[in-house]
Amino acid sequence: MLRTKIICTLGPATSEPDDIAAVVACGMDVARLNMAHGEEDDRARMVESVRAAARLERRPVALLADLGGPKIRVGRLPKPVPVSLGDEIVMAYERRATGEVIPTTYERIAEDVRPGIRVAIDDGLIELECTGVGADGVRFDVLRNGLIRSGQGINIPSGVVSGSSLTEKDLVDLDSALALGVEYVGLSFVRSAADVAELKRRVGARALVVAKIEMARAVGAIDEILDVADMVMIARGDLGVELPFEEVPLAQKQIIQKANLHATPVITATQMLESMIHHPRPTRAEASDVANAVLDGTDCVMLSGETAIGRHPRLAVEAAWRIIAEIEKSGVLASGPRYLADVTPADRKGASPTEQAIACGVVDAARQINAPAVLVLTTSGFSARLVASHRPPVPIFAVTTDPQTYSQLAAVWGIWPVLAGRERISYEVLSDLGKREILDSGFGARGDSIVVTAGVPFHEPGTTNTLRVERL
Ligand code: PEP
Repeated sequence: MLRTKIICTLGPATSEPDDIAAVVACGMDVARLNMAHGEEDDRARMVESVRAAARLERRPVALLADLGGPKIRVGRLPKPVPVSLGDEIVMAYERRATGEVIPTTYERIAEDVRPGIRVAIDDGLIELECTGVGADGVRFDVLRNGLIRSGQGINIPSGVVSGSSLTEKDLVDLDSALALGVEYVGLSFVRSAADVAELKRRVGARALVVAKIEMARAVGAIDEILDVADMVMIARGDLGVELPFEEVPLAQKQIIQKANLHATPVITATQMLESMIHHPRPTRAEASDVANAVLDGTDCVMLSGETAIGRHPRLAVEAAWRIIAEIEKSGVLASGPRYLADVTPADRKGASPTEQAIACGVVDAARQINAPAVLVLTTSGFSARLVASHRPPVPIFAVTTDPQTYSQLAAVWGIWPVLAGRERISYEVLSDLGKREILDSGFGARGDSIVVTAGVPFHEPGTTNTLRVERL
């Protein structure tokens, strides 16, 4: 088992129960449903297959429903339109576009886009600059050649775009995702903490919210976003169009570092093993990309097209697994990412001084007594995430009686979730169960000392107050 978790986007290449069972067996920890594509019935079947495969593997697999958000696209074109450097084109909202005008799904294009603003199409392959707004639409000079096709994504700088990051379609998709019982909901094109707070208010305790960082404004507001989001995703696809691509690597490192310091789990996403959509082996650069995200301290790496539409979804998961395993077994992460050594870990979000002190103490004690594992008895998963954010050198066994927490913790670095029945809840019963799991998994041997943390009395969440050293 790995400490860094693997998220796979499900799609046509992974829609059948056997395909899903195969990617779970290869190491998928979280299944991502892209709500921008696919039908509700297909999604319900996929969710059932994920749950069945997780039961078979006797470990949790979380579900992440990723809401499409206000992704701006090229509208329907009768045929692709080639454009070349120096051409002038006109673009208008699809319901108002006539003749040669390029249609877009963005209703407010004429109000929001002003001369001098640069717009990218097809992940930045085509670049345009606005020269003015006329009666027929917005005029652009073509700066980079390409072929404009129906449905291609259009990126307009985030400072320019108005409107909510939750569309009417997202609200319908949200209801359907929550009815499926997903553990995480992803919010696209987040600009500020207020966008995240709005979705969290709607979702309540039914799921955790993942803020997708894919706009320059969100990078600027990362501290406030980390304060409210349950998890963040570095969505490098759109981020790499919004920011100059050379700025993405440092943005990734900074976001991961801040997320770790906030105890907010973080996902590194997009194009990690992109060439495996077509080929059975990753490129050396892709292997390095996955390895570097692990070294940066990411909780999860995410596969998109590789597992959703690729020819080799199992091999892609296997490749991610092998790369992560190689880094983890090398021991280079034994003292955590380097920056963790340089900071006082006393500023974790929402944690009381007692909780912070205990989380630090657990990790320190585990190092000093050479414990083979730590054991966290947790109701909401909060204390387990707090301990994980300190990146202890040994596995964190998190025992919970809550099935939702059990599945949610599948997405968090270093955690081995253990589900306990709700009968006879007490410190002794739950710690005995955790100890048995540590022994059965082979991580510890009888007589080894481990560190246990819990809130006692156990059924009152938010009362982490106990740190004990016990023998297996
Ligand atoms: C991304 O842009 O990197 C991303 C993950 O978002 P989506 O796949 O929803 O476009």
